[in-house]
Amino acid sequence: MGTDLAIEVRNLSKSYGKLLAVDHIDFQVPEGEIFGFLGPNGAGKTTTIKMLISLLAPDEGQALVCGYDVERQPYDAKRQFGVVPEETNVYTELSTWDNLMFTAQIYRIPVNERKRRIEVLLEQFGLQGKRNDRVFTLSKGMRQRLSLMMALIHEPKVLFLDEPVLGLDVQSALMIKDHIRQLNAQGTTIFLTTHQIDMADDICQRVAIIDHGQIAAIESPEKLKAAVEGRRSVEVVVANGGTTRQYAGLAKLPGVSQAIRQGEKIRLYTGDPPTVLTGVMAYAHQESLPVMAINTNGPSLEEVFVMMTGKAMGPARKKHPGAECKGCPVNEECKSEKDDPDNKPKTHHSGFLKGSCEH
Ligand code: ATP
Repeated sequence: MGTDLAIEVRNLSKSYGKLLAVDHIDFQVPEGEIFGFLGPNGAGKTTTIKMLISLLAPDEGQALVCGYDVERQPYDAKRQFGVVPEETNVYTELSTWDNLMFTAQIYRIPVNERKRRIEVLLEQFGLQGKRNDRVFTLSKGMRQRLSLMMALIHEPKVLFLDEPVLGLDVQSALMIKDHIRQLNAQGTTIFLTTHQIDMADDICQRVAIIDHGQIAAIESPEKLKAAVEGRRSVEVVVANGGTTRQYAGLAKLPGVSQAIRQGEKIRLYTGDPPTVLTGVMAYAHQESLPVMAINTNGPSLEEVFVMMTGKAMGPARKKHPGAECKGCPVNEECKSEKDDPDNKPKTHHSGFLKGSCEH
């Protein structure tokens, strides 16, 4: 089946009762790409991925992997892809070796070839020393590596990764990210769903943003960010802090469209960074404000995401109505409190910036 498309989705749709979870979506992923599939909670990511890996039948439309229709040719299609599910699929009572052997048997890999491939994977993923250990004794990061190895045992052309670094420590997450890059360099197409938007920005050649079951955008992270170029910002760090009046003064400088303060730092959003930079310097001089650092930043992919979906990314968004906010627009009341049962305006914001307010 000669094709240069690893994944092709045509008019794919799925409802749960009256809820249209995936709404007639179309997209294509060429061979060799790392493709990110991003969306807020409940957007339809898992439903889509389940249809792509033949776990869920679509109501309408078609999904093809390497040219095979996943519904009508499931066995051919399944030989083309591996899956690392969000919930680990490793058998914790079995050893590392036995998990791999078991998976190799399912794919009917010849016995000698099984052993060869397992040895290669153990070496590649640094688990040789754990080959005979039962999986419940392995760390979460090691289990995730094993899950990745199991997905690769039949040498698939396409790898579906559902939240592959969720809950991992920084080092394990970096290791998984490196493995994804290496696999892709060797020719594997990667379909990645993640709430780690920095990771998607870092490794994906293109990302799709899905919202309410519909594709809101498909582009490279760079092009998406360029589309919201007006959301550049100038970040000012004041040594020993300034007064509330001084931060408000910075927020009112010409060219500033929005300001968000985080402790001694204030981020001034603007479409015209040079004007704001000049204004900051003049204001600092006038006020004898000890400015420690000034940086200009482009829009982040997270900001693009929020602009398109109106929601912050991340499964673990904290909701603390009434708690002190460390990153809110200066002189602006929070109006988007869908999670607040009382729906009272507060002096905190719904988390436009990663690392700032997450209410
Ligand atoms: P998250 O990031 O929270 O995992 P998601 O983007 O993966 O979300 P889905 O799990 O695909 O979203 O869910 C899409 C919508 O379909 C949601 O409103 C969800 O509640 C609903 N849904 C998902 N599975 C079922 C089901 N088995 N029965 C009924 N509704 C479902």
